[in-house]
Amino acid sequence: MPEDLSRFCCLNDHCPDHGRRGAGNLTVCARYGKDKQRRMLYCRSCKARFSERKGTPLFGSQLTEGQALSIFEHLADRNGVRATARPVKVNRNTVVRLARLAGDHARQLHDDLAALSPADP
Ligand SMILES: [Zn+2]
Repeated sequence: MPEDLSRFCCLNDHCPDHGRRGAGNLTVCARYGKDKQRRMLYCRSCKARFSERKGTPLFGSQLTEGQALSIFEHLADRNGVRATARPVKVNRNTVVRLARLAGDHARQLHDDLAALSPADP
């Protein structure tokens, strides 16, 4: 199955293809993480490697995708921070941080996460 990399772009500021999605410059060079679900991407234009999660609010965070998805769903329903944090069982600061970080990523991230259908305990 061919990899769908159309939503990714090179994150190297100095790359001629920086920020261009679907430019055909990216390939998957490795997989990592639980069940090898995470991909390392390689840019042929500048030879940079980076995680597909880099540049998304989830990168480096301790949240599971299920938790992050729940947070976005609560926020999308215009719930307040407190009303979001309690059912998802995360710290209020986490919700604030994620909401602020998310910005433009929120819709895309939500779609990505919903498509993944994370299997939560
Ligand atoms: Zn590049």
